[in-house]
This record gives sequence, C-alpha cells and structure tokens, in this order.
Amino acid sequence: MQQLQMPQAIFDRMLAQAKQAVPLEACGILAGRLPSGDEGGGCVEKFYEMTNADKSAVHFTMVPEEQFKVARDIRACGLEMMAVYHSHPATPARFSQEDMRLAVTPGVMYMILSLAEAFAPVLKSFSVEEGAASEVQIQIVKG
Ligand SMILES: [Zn+2]
Repeated sequence: MQQLQMPQAIFDRMLAQAKQAVPLEACGILAGRLPSGDEGGGCVEKFYEMTNADKSAVHFTMVPEEQFKVARDIRACGLEMMAVYHSHPATPARFSQEDMRLAVTPGVMYMILSLAEAFAPVLKSFSVEEGAASEVQIQIVKG
C-alpha cells in the first residue's frame, strides 16, 4: 500500500487556505522527496498556495505563470512535484469526473480536501493510472 507522509504544519496551512476560499475551490501544489524504487509514497516537504483562476465553486485552473515559478522553485530546492491539491468546499473528498478530466499530469498524485463537514475536514490523495483513481494513504506527522 502506498503511503504519503505530510507534516501537520502543511496540513494546517492547506486547511486555512481552503477555509478562506469558501465558497470557492482552493488549489495548491505539494513538493517533496519521492522514495527510490517502486514502493510509492514519500514525504511532503513544501506546500505552494496557488490562485484558482476559475474563481469557481466546482472546478479550478492554475495560473501558468505561477506554475512555472513553482516548478522552478521545486527544482532549485532539489525536490519533486508530488501532488496537485484542490478543495471541495461542499462535496465529499471523492474523485469526480471533472477531477479525472483534469488529471493530466503524469507521475503526480491528486489530493482533495473536503470541507463538506465543517468540523471534520477530510483529506484524500489519489494516484491516477489509465483513467482509474486509486487512493493513497496519507499519514499526518508532527512538524
Ligand atoms: Zn474536484
């Protein structure tokens, strides 16, 4: 089973960003170190808040200039892009058909943070292969 580790501080920042964006979707990019070999998973080390150019409650588009800047920074830090994240302000952390349509970047995971239950946010991560999404376990670690 693949497992992804995420520091509590990064989760807290994602949650703060997602809450602030309500009723719109928030989005971001997570970078970190991928383990060598095929065991999957890895550890998230950096979180980049991105602008949702769509200003929509049901989908998101990142701003290309921001994406280029982030990609450069990730490389400069010697890290790899691990996941693309967006929030679902009012629906469960389920991979929607729209999410599948947008999941076009190979080798990255897709994270969804659901605020459907205001006091119980749910974060899920998926890897997408050949049109099928499978869940990757996320472990929140101290830090
Ligand atoms: Zn979505």
